[in-house]
Amino acid sequence: MAEKLRLKVVDEAFKRQPVEVTVPKERPSEYFGKYVFNKQKMYKYLSADVYKKMCDVIDNGAPFDRAIADAVAEGIKQWAIDNGVTHYTHWFQPLTEGTAEKHDGFVEHDQKGGMVEQFEGKLLVQQEPDASSFPSGGIRSTFEARGYSAWDPTSPVFIIGDTLMIPTIFISFTGEALDYKVPLKKALYAVDKAATAVCQLFNPEVKKVQCNLGWEQEYFLVDEALYAARPDLVMTGRTLMGHDSAKNQQMDDHYFGSIPARVENFMRDIEIQALELGIPVKTRHNEVAPNQFELAPIFEETNLAVDHNMLMMSIMKRVARKHGFRCLLHEKPFKGINGSGKHNNWSLSTDTGILLHAPGKTLLDNLRFVTFTVETLKAVLDHNGLLKASIMSASNAHRLGANEAPPAIISSFLGKTVSDLLDHVEQADENAFSMASKTAFKLDIPAIPELLIDNTDRNRTSPFAFTGNRFEFRAVGSEANCASAMLTLNTAVAEALTLFKSRVDALMAAGEPKEAAILKVVREDIKYVRPIIFNGNGYGEAWKQEAARRGLDCETSAPLIFDRYLDEASIRMFESQNVMTRLELEARNEIKWETYTKKIQIESRIFGDLCLNHIIPVVTQYQSVLIDNVHKVMEIFPAEQAQKISRENLVIIERISEHESFIIENVERMIEARKAANRIESEREKAIAYHDTVAPLLESIRYHVDKLETIVDDEAWPLPKYRELLFIR
Ligand code: ADP
Ligand code: MG
Repeated sequence: MAEKLRLKVVDEAFKRQPVEVTVPKERPSEYFGKYVFNKQKMYKYLSADVYKKMCDVIDNGAPFDRAIADAVAEGIKQWAIDNGVTHYTHWFQPLTEGTAEKHDGFVEHDQKGGMVEQFEGKLLVQQEPDASSFPSGGIRSTFEARGYSAWDPTSPVFIIGDTLMIPTIFISFTGEALDYKVPLKKALYAVDKAATAVCQLFNPEVKKVQCNLGWEQEYFLVDEALYAARPDLVMTGRTLMGHDSAKNQQMDDHYFGSIPARVENFMRDIEIQALELGIPVKTRHNEVAPNQFELAPIFEETNLAVDHNMLMMSIMKRVARKHGFRCLLHEKPFKGINGSGKHNNWSLSTDTGILLHAPGKTLLDNLRFVTFTVETLKAVLDHNGLLKASIMSASNAHRLGANEAPPAIISSFLGKTVSDLLDHVEQADENAFSMASKTAFKLDIPAIPELLIDNTDRNRTSPFAFTGNRFEFRAVGSEANCASAMLTLNTAVAEALTLFKSRVDALMAAGEPKEAAILKVVREDIKYVRPIIFNGNGYGEAWKQEAARRGLDCETSAPLIFDRYLDEASIRMFESQNVMTRLELEARNEIKWETYTKKIQIESRIFGDLCLNHIIPVVTQYQSVLIDNVHKVMEIFPAEQAQKISRENLVIIERISEHESFIIENVERMIEARKAANRIESEREKAIAYHDTVAPLLESIRYHVDKLETIVDDEAWPLPKYRELLFIR
């Protein structure tokens, strides 16, 4: 009996008690990194010589030598066995969402009839998982199923339970990237090279530029029993139907509100586990929507930060269950309620410690600040469509462009101080920047208040906002692998900086003094980047028109947005920076379209089932009750009076019929639309068909289901309602 199930699970959810968490006796600083083979452990488990070589690999990108691999593997094995580990796995990030792993035991035959714990360097350096079922976009056909995985020594191995986790890259037999890590690492290398060259114009001491990422992860928690009673949540991660709750977020009383006990215990639990795994978690709070929360660590080097985010998402999902919750990472689990994002705070820093986007003390520092800010904007402007593609997915599409952060148009908010600064540099007359003497260059750039970092004005509607010493890319989806956005942004910045450097070099070769050359190019670029700067309200209808006038990419259809990866400008960018080849880009797009199609297909199937098997039967039953009632009234009262008494019921009976027929007819149409789309050969065309013909029906049918929810007897309604999903802790 469906109606009983809903009330039963609601009751169960209401009564669920907080789950106690054992808090370690040590302080967080003491158990931080307990299960990570970090430098401290390396020092203990490796010889002095091997330790030194490993530090060179990690800090300076020296090649990971097969000659030391065996020694490192032995050290790792010892450490792992000391911690009760029996298995190991290469842990990688395939082009699906999430991570993949294949577990093997340490044991080998000892050739004397027994077993011995063994783990050789070659297992660290390279494995050949039969990975034919991971998406490859046709690069690796199934008969050539070999893919290689190899340890990424810049991301330390760690332990979960009885398993040693080895972060690895994943490439095809022919060397193409089948994961996110390979192109990310290449992009980080490219931005390091390009940014270091530009930095050296200002300070020849700079040897290395690091890219930082501080992600903020938003998520929802839903009681496990209620979740289980919603097949749509279980199968698709979002509710495909559900009428607004009378109260949702209109009171704004959830943001930064006090955290309920059950949730607080969950947070404490994931934080302890995160710290033990070396993830420097710091911030936790309620988000805008009911049952929505956020977690953020301190920023880290980008490759490590990405691994940590992937790991964090899996910890969150696992630990949620222990607390009787399900953790929803979908970008839009509930219609009409804010979705979840993953703000990516991005910055570059040098080995001399200066954050490139932070204003400095000297005039030259300020010129550096202006240079990096303007070239970042140039990267974002030149590739605004591509950057949108890098964060686009079937699920994130629901969040962008809805009346919440941010619209499906990439622009950048700078705030008043920086905007004024750019105006000044652009408009000041040539004499403001002159060679005052042969040795001193006069730079009329006003000092930038250091306070900026703490008090930059905020604009929540901007997808790419300057926030003091970093840019915050807010359009990234909560479920996404940050690497997709980060590798695209960093490649674009690397390209802009490379071009910048060559333009400055050309001017210098023609006799311009260095500062004058830099300034000339910067001033040109300030003019050029105007269209990407937008300090106004990104939610407004007016902005969409203005953005189109400015030539920014305003496309909203996900499958068409993916096309931007294959623009000649994008391919040139990725190829010139040695990040990805045309073949890789083409293959990855096949996967994007295919994934898009599959997601909508699954949603549409489960939605059809829910309509026909859950909603319609209950609604028909309720309608029969009303019809019975009308019959009985007819029996008892004279016709005219009976008509009068039954007037409201007759209206409802009719209304139910109208909604029902709309639903039944259109579920049929939706099935036909799917069939037609499935016959299409090209992945791109198929995804477009799903977007144009199947997805809209999900919305239009839903309207009628949600109406019925407000009509039918509450006790009879089969699925947990929004007010139950969102307000039970
Ligand atoms: P808010 O919610 O106000 O944007 P939070 O403190 O929640 O700020 O999160 C900010 C994130 O940005 C944190 O992960 C923080 O470590 C990170 N961050 C701070 N400074 C930088 C920087 N220079 N580069 C990259 N990330 C940074
Ligand atoms: Mg933020």
